[in-house]
Amino acid sequence: MPHVRKQRNIPKDLLVLRHLNCRMKLLDQDKKHYFSGEKGLEGELKFDQLTENLHSECIIINGLLLKVDNNFFQIDTLIIFQKAIYLIDVKNYEGDYQFDAKHLQHIKSEKIIKDPFIQLQRCETLLHQLLQQLGFHYQVESYLVYINPEFTLYQAPQNPSVIFPTQIKSFFKKLNTVPSKLTNGHENLADLLISMDLGDYPFPQLPVYKYEQLDKRIICPCCWGVMFAENDMKLKCDKCGFEENVDKAVLRCVKEFKILFPDWKITTNIIFEWCSIVRSKRTIRRILQKYYQPCGQGKHCYYI
Ligand SMILES: [Zn+2]
Repeated sequence: MPHVRKQRNIPKDLLVLRHLNCRMKLLDQDKKHYFSGEKGLEGELKFDQLTENLHSECIIINGLLLKVDNNFFQIDTLIIFQKAIYLIDVKNYEGDYQFDAKHLQHIKSEKIIKDPFIQLQRCETLLHQLLQQLGFHYQVESYLVYINPEFTLYQAPQNPSVIFPTQIKSFFKKLNTVPSKLTNGHENLADLLISMDLGDYPFPQLPVYKYEQLDKRIICPCCWGVMFAENDMKLKCDKCGFEENVDKAVLRCVKEFKILFPDWKITTNIIFEWCSIVRSKRTIRRILQKYYQPCGQGKHCYYI
C-alpha cells in the first residue's frame, strides 16, 4: 500500500489570486496567471487521487520546492520505490496542440508553450545532484503526464517518458507491478526531502492591491458566489444554495484576510467590515474570542 507522506499544499500566490479574483477586477495577465494556476492544481489533485489507489509499497510526496546550488526546482509528485525514485510532472493542458521542436503550440489560439519535457529533464538533473550531495544512490525515472482527457498533441515524438491521457491506465498498471520492499532508509530519505521543502517561491509575482479597493463580502467556498445571511446563525450562497454556520464562515474569512494582509492586526472592527453581511459586531467579537487569543484591552484589542 502506498504511504502518502506529504499532502499537496495550495501555493500561496494562487490563494492570494483566488481571493483577489472574487473581490476585485484583475488585469488580464493576472487573470491568465490565476486561471492557469487553478487549472494546474486541478490536474495535480486529479493525479493525487490516482496515486492514492496504487497497490505497491511506496512513499508518495506531493509537491516539493527544493533548492540545490542556488537553483530552485519544483516537483509535482515523487514516488519512492525500493530501487527507484519516480519523478512526475503533471500537465493539465486541454485542447489540440501541435508539437514543434522545443514547443507546443495551441492550434486555435497559436499560443506557444515551452515543451514541459525540457523542464522535467532539468528537474531530474537537479534531483540527481541533490541526492548525490545527500549521499543517496537511487535510480531516478522521470515522467511527464498529460492528465486531461481532452488533450491531443499532434506530431508528438515517441517518448516513453511522456504519458498521454490514453496511456495513464497502463502507466498505473506498470506502477502497480514495480517490485518494492521499503526500509528505514527510504523513510529517512522521504523525511529529509520533506524537511528541505521551501513551500513557496520567495518572490511571487502578484498584482498590487489595497484593502480599500476590495469588495467586502463572504465568498462561497463551493462556487465562489456571494453568501448572504439567512439569519444570525446561518449563511447561504446566492448561487449554489450552500449553507454554512456563521462561525465557520467568519473563520474562513479571517483566514482569507490573513493571507491577503499578513501584517495587519485582526480586530473586531476590521473583521466586521470585512465580513459585511454579518449584521452584529457582537457576533464577530464572540467568534474571535472563542477561536483566537485576545491581546490588549478595549479599543486596542486584537487577536492572534
Ligand atoms: Zn455557492
